[in-house]
Amino acid sequence: MTAFTIPRAHRADDTSRAAAIEMLGGEEALDALVRDGLPVGPGDRFDSRDLFNFALRSGGGKTVPEQAFAFALRWMRSPAEALLKPRTSNFSLALKCSCTPTALARPRPEPYGGSVSDLTADDPTALQSPNDLVLARELSATVRTEGELVPLRSPLLRDEVEAFADLGVRWVKLPDSLREDVDLVTDHRVATCESASLHLARRFRDAGYLADTRIGWVIGMLDLVHAWVEVVDDDGVTKVVDPIFALLADLVPGANPLLTDPAVALRTNRLIPTGLAVGGRVAVHACATAPRTKITPAKEKP
Ligand SMILES: [Zn+2]
Repeated sequence: MTAFTIPRAHRADDTSRAAAIEMLGGEEALDALVRDGLPVGPGDRFDSRDLFNFALRSGGGKTVPEQAFAFALRWMRSPAEALLKPRTSNFSLALKCSCTPTALARPRPEPYGGSVSDLTADDPTALQSPNDLVLARELSATVRTEGELVPLRSPLLRDEVEAFADLGVRWVKLPDSLREDVDLVTDHRVATCESASLHLARRFRDAGYLADTRIGWVIGMLDLVHAWVEVVDDDGVTKVVDPIFALLADLVPGANPLLTDPAVALRTNRLIPTGLAVGGRVAVHACATAPRTKITPAKEKP
């Protein structure tokens, strides 16, 4: 099998054959993948990430991952004006587990021309800390964001963006233990938003530029936590470069070409940054329960 599958040490055989058939949209599709080398675990079980990754690329548009993606990414067809205009959202982040202590990342849209108002936490004293992480288990706020479209001036940076596109990297679901594995980008041409951003930030730094990764949320996406790159361009301005949005836009027929244009830095109004880089966590606690994140459109105050 030439396509990437989850390495043995990281595999979870968490999916039955019946569920695998449903995910791939038919028994023939599953059997063809198995003949081609799709790993099968004890008890005829499969890794759900492998199944998701193959279903997403099956090409018929009929599998659940393909349809979920088409739905989550439909905003990529929006005209520039819709990607840039100010948006106001109700933001909430909450941990429902019983861990103590817990810490949650603040939304930090200010460097991106945005603002936060009505910030509340279950423990209001937690907000007295200026840190990026506050010792709370529930945070809510009204978050204003806006986009920006500026040229990426440095020819060296543009070359690196093009070189990344030419690598033919595929966005894949990976276990948490591999999400930040930057070697998978070059060795297997597969990436998460974290590993792609680490790779590109490192390439930018190797080219002599100040660059780092940033994590935050994407308004309206299913998998809300995202990572991208910030780099200081030749004009001294920090630009947002998003290697994964560029890859995903290739999966969306009619996607706005600005998303894949290496000559521009497009920071959409859907990004809510934290103060954290890749490696940071938007929710820090002892168990593996994901925080509940809700970002919904807010009515503009008059
Ligand atoms: Zn927990």
